Amino acid sequence: MMRLVFLGPPGAGKGTQAKILSESLNIPHISTGDIFRYNIENKTELGREASEFMNRGFLVPDKITNAMVLNRLSMDDCKNGYILDGYPRTINQAEFLDSMQEINHAVYFYLRDEIAIERLMSRAKQESRSDDSPEVIKNRLQVYKEQTQPLINYYKERGTLLEIDAGAGITMISKDVRRALKLS
Ligand code: AMP
Repeated sequence: MMRLVFLGPPGAGKGTQAKILSESLNIPHISTGDIFRYNIENKTELGREASEFMNRGFLVPDKITNAMVLNRLSMDDCKNGYILDGYPRTINQAEFLDSMQEINHAVYFYLRDEIAIERLMSRAKQESRSDDSPEVIKNRLQVYKEQTQPLINYYKERGTLLEIDAGAGITMISKDVRRALKLS
């Protein structure tokens, strides 16, 4: 069973790696950010609620996010495992997830601050994500430090943390991930 959590600062390349691994393992890649963006695009009630927080670089409240993830993980395609990308982001979310299902590994992509900022700034120029503007990027990194970084210890204490250097290139990182998960 591969129930995985991908952790790390914005800009670490979690999404890219989650996509690669999910295709190779044939398990769903679940990005809470993508689900929120989809809901915003389609002008749903959830999208309207989430956008107020997302646009400013803050976290969507746990209650909303947890309910959404509970719903997603109960779908049929999750029965053989999944990769959660961008969830959990708070201790409360991690505890909620643990109460729901056993997570096999948390893969932590670590990256120096300067590199994260550099990558996000260049992404801001290329893409039209409304939360990739410089002010919002600053907020997102701050929020990551305050609310998400404590999860590294949370998973370390549970003995499920795997650490990956996210400063390397895409191919190298995905090799490291497979090695850490004992897939190759
Ligand atoms: P991401 O695409 O993972 O960087 O997420 C973009 C934005 O969506 C975040 O800055 C948050 O506003 C919101 N978001 C995504 N995942 C979560 C989560 N697990 N908890 C709260 N907010 C989230």
